[in-house]
Amino acid sequence: MRYSGFKVIREALRGHKGWGPAWRDPEPKSHYDIIIIGGGGHGLATAHYLAKIYGQRNVAVIEKGWIGGGNVGRNTTIIRSNYLLDGNEPFYEFSLKLWEGLEQDLNYNAMVSQRGIMNLIHSDAQRDAFTRRGNAMILNGADAELLDEAQIRAEYPFLNFNDARFPIKGGLAQRRGGTVRHDAVAWGYARGADQNGVDIIQNCEVTGFRIEDGKCLGVETSKGFIGANKVGCAVAGNSGRMMSKAGMRLPIESHVLQAFVSEGLKPVLPGVITFGAGHFYVSQSDKGGLVFGGDLDGYNTYAQRGNLPVVEDVCEGGMGLMPMIGRARLLRMWGGIMDMSMDGSPIIDRTHVDGLYFNGGWCYGGFKATPASGYCFAHLLANDAPHPVATAYRFDRFDKGRMIDEKGMGNQPNLH
Ligand SMILES: Cc1cc2nc3c(=O)[nH]c(=O)nc-3n(C[C@H](O)[C@H](O)[C@H](O)COP(=O)(O)OP(=O)(O)OC[C@H]3O[C@@H](n4cnc5c(N)ncnc54)[C@H](O)[C@@H]3O)c2cc1C
Repeated sequence: MRYSGFKVIREALRGHKGWGPAWRDPEPKSHYDIIIIGGGGHGLATAHYLAKIYGQRNVAVIEKGWIGGGNVGRNTTIIRSNYLLDGNEPFYEFSLKLWEGLEQDLNYNAMVSQRGIMNLIHSDAQRDAFTRRGNAMILNGADAELLDEAQIRAEYPFLNFNDARFPIKGGLAQRRGGTVRHDAVAWGYARGADQNGVDIIQNCEVTGFRIEDGKCLGVETSKGFIGANKVGCAVAGNSGRMMSKAGMRLPIESHVLQAFVSEGLKPVLPGVITFGAGHFYVSQSDKGGLVFGGDLDGYNTYAQRGNLPVVEDVCEGGMGLMPMIGRARLLRMWGGIMDMSMDGSPIIDRTHVDGLYFNGGWCYGGFKATPASGYCFAHLLANDAPHPVATAYRFDRFDKGRMIDEKGMGNQPNLH
């Protein structure tokens, strides 16, 4: 079934009796060519591109809960490609280009909104760093624009310019950045994959791998053993737990990251704003809520809930940047488990087990990476070779000291 304006009007006139389920609910087969573990954004995007681009149709996505219940439905919905380093910027720009065509590709309204992102500058040194970043972006085909204080005052008159502890000196804008309705991304990819024959199996937990003579033969699940020629793991915050079942200890820690939404307000924020002197980022949803977040909770955990000190810390950042936020009431908040890698960059690679592949280490930034991550993981699974924009995302960079340390924070995951 194709969705269209015409179809909506037709169904409205017929009492909405003609809509079918967006994807099937199949029982698992005994064997697939490729199994993807994890029905988050990355797993579903991988399945979609495997079927659509690489012609692999005997594929299953196995999800322990429901699709969209993990980080893909818990993030603050920001997309951008404003990275500095060679290993990252081409990959994230590829992803942004895929976002720009996603709704046509999937025939699904994911509310992709290129409302722009503004990284605020608070010191001369930061202006130098952001100028360099903007130049790296432009060299890689992305858009970047440096604004001075007067331009920021004109565009964002509600920010604290007069008595701020960290005065605002300018900003680095990426006008093509913005937001996307996060759970619609999971649903759109699920529908796209299903239409091309992929089985999406929900409420089925992978409990282990069957590995014989160094080869992965399939996965043990709560619904029994399912065989596969290849298995790709894309379980985000559960990466450490999952890959330990294949005898791997990953350079990844799991931390909780919280998100917050205020009550609905009249439109006030033109796009995404990030505070350059602390950790606070905010946008306004189409329903009017201010959607914001900040630092991770510092301890390791697999629990999808956070603690109060971070709530205070994030709200302080918001108050420092735009004191008007203090009059809004917090409506809801939640947490997701982040797969924090040691250099802040992801991994899309084969493992030491034949037929077992890994995708993870997305830290704070995996939502914007969803299309490119799926595309590149599908490429790796189909061709046994990395996609050209993901060649740096290998395990052996930790062995060889070729870190992609975008923030220059070293091996401290809670700082990335
Ligand atoms: C509060 C918050 C805000 C964020 N904000 C942004 C942002 O603004 N921009 C951005 O780019 N990124 C953001 N992120 C990061 C981004 O959401 C994640 O990096 C990304 O969603 C992770 O990939 P995923 O969608 O595949 O993960 P998930 O949706 O978590 O998918 C993994 C899936 O694997 C399943 N699974 C786990 N173990 C098993 C098992 N044993 N068997 C079967 N299934 C299993 C889980 O149930 C889950 O559904 C944010 C994250 C959080 C939590």
